[in-house]
Amino acid sequence: MPSGRGFDRVIVASHPCGSGSLPTETLWRATNCIWLTMPLIIGYRMVSKTMVATGVHILLSLALILVLRRPGRPEPYLVGALAAAVPDSDTFVFRPLVNSGYVEGVLWSHRGLTHSLLGGIVVVALLSSVGPWRPAAIGFGSHVGFDFLSGGVRLLAPLDRTLYGLSFDWLLLNALTSAVAVTVILGGLLGRKYGLETRTGSYTAKPILEWFR
Ligand SMILES: [Zn+2]
Repeated sequence: MPSGRGFDRVIVASHPCGSGSLPTETLWRATNCIWLTMPLIIGYRMVSKTMVATGVHILLSLALILVLRRPGRPEPYLVGALAAAVPDSDTFVFRPLVNSGYVEGVLWSHRGLTHSLLGGIVVVALLSSVGPWRPAAIGFGSHVGFDFLSGGVRLLAPLDRTLYGLSFDWLLLNALTSAVAVTVILGGLLGRKYGLETRTGSYTAKPILEWFR
């Protein structure tokens, strides 16, 4: 096997992105390079956008559970994070089925059934079999609420296929939500580490919405 500079030259010469000896050959290779790398770039951008969105949803759910519930055990956070991540699974589960022609229609599109009240009931019911249901409801509700603000969700699917929601800037909303959620989570962790919740004798860690307990 060739090694060093010789090996590099072999790879570059045979790669579609490598430069040719003539201008037309270079142009041809550049065109091929664009066509071959475009699906990779688009796929990467789609995956990275979905991953960013899922990460923000999880952060938001953790922050809300921390503020509303203040649980001392890890299970509520795990259940809430799962519930916050599940709705966007439609991009992985439904999209291949739609592309294969097994299902069709807006109900199976992104922000369809998995973002509806019915989807929420199913997700919370399933997760309540392995953990507390209230954090699951918070996780799912925070996801749907966030998506409601950033483009809309089909809240009443499958009965009503209308897209309900507002159109705040997706990127700005993600950035602001991430900043607030990370601040809340870090504040909660620091509070626990330095015992701020027990330092004041009369203060007890009650949730803001007592009825939600
Ligand atoms: Zn979503």
